[in-house]
Amino acid sequence: MVQPCTISGRPFSDRSGSGAETTGTPFALPPPMDMTVTFWGVRGSIACSGPSVAKVGGNTPCVEVRAGTERLILDAGTGLRALGQRMLAEHAASGRGELRATLLFSHLHWDHIQGFPFFPPAYAPHADLRLFGPVAEDGLTTLKDALRGQMTGPWFPVPFGALPSTLRFETVRDSDDLTIGPFDIQMRGLVHPQGSLGYRIEAGGRRLCFATDTEHPERGFDPALLDLARDVDILIYDAQFTTDEYEGRSGPCRRGWGHSTADAATRIARAAGAKKLFLFHHDPGHDDPFIGRIEREARTRFAATWAAREGDTIHV
Ligand SMILES: [Zn+2]
Ligand SMILES: [Zn+2]
Repeated sequence: MVQPCTISGRPFSDRSGSGAETTGTPFALPPPMDMTVTFWGVRGSIACSGPSVAKVGGNTPCVEVRAGTERLILDAGTGLRALGQRMLAEHAASGRGELRATLLFSHLHWDHIQGFPFFPPAYAPHADLRLFGPVAEDGLTTLKDALRGQMTGPWFPVPFGALPSTLRFETVRDSDDLTIGPFDIQMRGLVHPQGSLGYRIEAGGRRLCFATDTEHPERGFDPALLDLARDVDILIYDAQFTTDEYEGRSGPCRRGWGHSTADAATRIARAAGAKKLFLFHHDPGHDDPFIGRIEREARTRFAATWAAREGDTIHV
């Protein structure tokens, strides 16, 4: 939906340049439990490909978080396919019997579920997958309904019911808490059309906030997001639009579309006391040099900022 824009903001400078640095440096002291975060999909709305987006990557949201032997998968965008291939290969090499993983979904929009029909472990009889996600806005459509719905004719040839893996679904909602292996997880509803859940994930004294598909308020901060992001080591935040785009100075006004900006990302990172900020859910229309400029501009406001890039692994 396009809404009228009445508020102006600071425009981004238009410095040229391309590329950007890769992931952050490790902390000086070794963590009590290593937590790693790997970006398998960082793009929002729809996957894109081609040389102009090859450095940042074109797959839609999928983030792997590991601590100890436990693995969490945040969202099932198209990046999930390659993660699933890696999981099967690692599992085959390990010689273990059962392949386990837990998937947490922010919401049910296409770009966050479309990787699931191409997730190889879903087709593996020895895979045991737990899937946590919210119900849709209608209060009835569950995560299982959404995944099953996209695997029906005429859109997809393999019916959901034919998947041989063990799939255990659970509904989660605003303010729920979960413990999965070493992970303590809190969730809060974010500001997005039809809703979205943000996650705060802690393990071994390390803290991560995953807040994609959310829009910043006109003034101040979303208190739910501030709670989730308080003092985290890593904040992954929706920065789909530039401020110019968001406010309608470049194309249609994006206010009310449910996404945020790099400028808002730096403000929430600072206010919450986050140590590192990763800009996420990149617009499919932004090529590598453009995202590089967004990243450099954001660093003038919050130095420890990176644009999330597909394939990067962060040691928290
Ligand atoms: Zn999205
Ligand atoms: Zn969405």
